[in-house]
Parts: sequence; C-alpha cells; structure tokens
Amino acid sequence: MSATIIDGYSIAASVRSRVAEGVSRLTGKGVHPCLAVVLVGDNPASVSYVSGKERALREVGMKDRTIRLPADTGEKELLELVDSLNHDPDVHGILVQLPLPKHINEQAVIMAIDPSKDVDGFHPVNLGNMLIERECFLPCTPHGVLVLLRETGITTAGAHAVIVGRSNIVGKPLSVLLARRDCNATVTVCHTKTRDLAAITRQADILIAAVGSPRMISADMIKPGAAVIDVGVNRVADDTAKNGYRLVGDVDFAPACEVASAITPVPRGVGPMTIAMLMENTLEAALRTLR
Ligand code: NDP
Repeated sequence: MSATIIDGYSIAASVRSRVAEGVSRLTGKGVHPCLAVVLVGDNPASVSYVSGKERALREVGMKDRTIRLPADTGEKELLELVDSLNHDPDVHGILVQLPLPKHINEQAVIMAIDPSKDVDGFHPVNLGNMLIERECFLPCTPHGVLVLLRETGITTAGAHAVIVGRSNIVGKPLSVLLARRDCNATVTVCHTKTRDLAAITRQADILIAAVGSPRMISADMIKPGAAVIDVGVNRVADDTAKNGYRLVGDVDFAPACEVASAITPVPRGVGPMTIAMLMENTLEAALRTLR
C-alpha cells in the first residue's frame, strides 16, 4: 500500500486565501485586522515560527505588530506589554511565542492575555469554552488537524483516534475536539506512562503523533489502512543540508507510507495549518469588534 500524502501546504494555502478575502472585506469597513506577535529571546525554532507568521500576515493583508524582546526581559515587563496590547484597540490578536525563557512563568503570561484577543486559544476561558462546546478561539494546531482530516475526507465519526502526547497545546485539546459531538471519534490519549504503546497505536483508525521524538512511531505501530497525522517537528543533523539539519516528524515516514492509507508529511503537513488557523482566528477576533 502507498498512502495518500495529505497536502497540508495546499490546504493551508486555501484557508489563507479565504482569510485574505475576509481581511479585504473588513478593511473596506474600516477595520484592519492586526496580530501582535511577541518573541522573547532567540530560540531558533521560535525565530523561524515567527518569520513564518510574518510571511502569512503579509500574504493575507493583515497588520503585523511583531515585537522582539531580549532573552533577559523580565516577567513584569512582559506582563505590562501584554496589558498594553490588551488595551490597544488597533490590535485584534495577541500571540506570545512559546516556549518563554525559564525565568518567566508561561501560565501567568497566558492568563494575562485578554481572552477576546487570545488567538492561540490557550487561555483557560477559551479552553473551557472549547470543552463545553461554546464559541471560542480553538487552539491552532489541534484545529488545523481537524481541518486536515475534514478536507481529506477522513471520517472521524465512530473512528478510534489514538493521540500520542498530552500537552496543553496539542494532545489534550485535540482529544477534546475529536470527542466532541461535531467529530464523534472515540479517543485514546497516550503518554510516557502508557503501557504497551504499540498495542494501542495499532488499534487506531486515526493515529496522531504529537510527541517531539524523531521517527518514534514505526511502521509496525500503525494499523494497515489507518490515517496518520504527524504533528511532530524535530531537527535532526544532516550534513548535506545548507543549515546542517533537516526537519522530520514523530513518524518514520517512508515505511509508514507503506502501511497507512493517508499520512501528513513533515514539513508541509500540520505546520502550515497551524499558521493558517492563526490567521483565521485573528480575522475572527477583528470581526467580533463589529458585533
Ligand atoms: P510536549 O513536549 O509538551 O509533549 C510531548 C508529549 O509526548 C507528552 O505528553 C509526553 O508524555 C509524550 N511523550 C514523549 N515521549 C513519549 C514516548 N516515548 N511515548 C509516549 N508518549 C511520549 O510537546 P508538544 O505537544 O508541545 O509538541 C509535540 C511535537 O509537536 C513537537 O515535535 C513539537 O515541535 C510539535 N509541534 C508542532 C506544531 C505544528 O504546528 N506542527 C505545533 C506544536 C508542536 P508525558 O506527558 O508523560 O511527558
């Protein structure tokens, strides 16, 4: 079997193009959607994610308010910045790039963002509303995974979805979304204390890897015909690459293609969807100012 490669890059491009139309309509009504991205320090992966967000903002025609701060920025200073962005009527969405340097309490910063500008969907108010199926900003990566499944025609209703990873930003919210009445999957969440991980992943109709461990999901952990979504983004050394590394997922991609029915590649799978959903949330935040 050779799996269908789920083209997250193209699906994300069509989401962005729809967002761009919305931005243009809204700008015509006098509201120019604006996202403030705050980057503290120079973690290479974060720097690269922020550049990707800036590119997307330009493409969809939104205002970009990227703020780069030194790694030794204090928590109080960051909280004051968030507060000023909360009160800035020209800013519709606020994203503080994670991870933050160790001396800053991430949860305190997330809690400080006005939920109506929390386009990452990480604030407890948005997470709580997601849980009880009320309108909210959905976290971008889990939402992007749902859109990928939907656009690829993968049925979630009645399917057994196994998620490997239980982080607050990917695994946990995704488990909630897949179990909601609009997806109707039966969900199992795995983590480092899961016994016999392979026995569980092999039961998955939809297998989602959000671990952060290069190629840890081997082909023999996948049920023949399963859909595989690889959220992982891992840098591995590669002397042949210009920058000395390349990106691989959590799934051992080539052998997995021989077993799965559909699979996302890394890069060009889930990653572009995360940014596209961020653009969608920011447009929505700006639209809400007219309601
Ligand atoms: P975290 O490190 O926060 O969480 C990893 C999870 O994987 C934890 O729940 C951990 O379990 C579990 N885990 C780790 N090792 C194993 C193992 N051997 N067996 C079973 N479970 C294991 O990671 P994130 O959720 O933030 O990110 C996961 C990956 O997704 C990373 O590669 C990250 O770069 C990528 N990512 C990609 C995004 C995108 O847009 N494509 C967006 C966000 C993340 P435990 O809880 O027990 O420690």
